[in-house]
Amino acid sequence: MSEKTFEFVAGTKCLDLANTIGGARGQANASEYLNSYQDLLNWGYQAGMLSKKQIVYLELKSKEYKIEANKVLDRARRLREAIYQIFSAIASQKTPSDPDLAVINLELARGLHQSRIISTPSGYIWGWEEPARLDSIIAPAVRSAADLLTSAALSHVRECASPSCSWLFIDESKNHSRRWCSMKTCGNTNKIRRFRSRHFQ
Ligand SMILES: [Zn+2]
Repeated sequence: MSEKTFEFVAGTKCLDLANTIGGARGQANASEYLNSYQDLLNWGYQAGMLSKKQIVYLELKSKEYKIEANKVLDRARRLREAIYQIFSAIASQKTPSDPDLAVINLELARGLHQSRIISTPSGYIWGWEEPARLDSIIAPAVRSAADLLTSAALSHVRECASPSCSWLFIDESKNHSRRWCSMKTCGNTNKIRRFRSRHFQ
């Protein structure tokens, strides 16, 4: 497995998926983090959406079915961009477009037959069929987007205030005043910028 380490700062998996483009979309600093099917698997594992057993199985399967694995990567990127466009629009009080919602509905329909109700000691939960399919990562990601769209947390979806970042997150701060995807990166850069403009001009 590749060594790429992803960040999970959004508070929900669908927005974490949207955040697999670094920098700001459409700008020179934009960078793709999902460059291969392997990257997608790696992301799914780190996100806790795929088990180690599934990863090992899917790694082997993707080597055998390269074209299909690349198609899944394309679908994941298309879903990611629909998720970004929808929640970015909502974060700025705009109405998401019908074509973006259509991508969500298409993938929901495709993933529904993989859904399972699983009995656990603490009750029944939504789960997914085994063994893993090449597109096993898509269904839980789109389910996360559908859950967020229909939840109260939707009004707390934000886009990072940094002009060089387009990461999305759920603002779960007490007074809903979180502005940055991460204080370590964008928040800190902004703090330094403000300090410099106050002291060195
Ligand atoms: Zn940011």
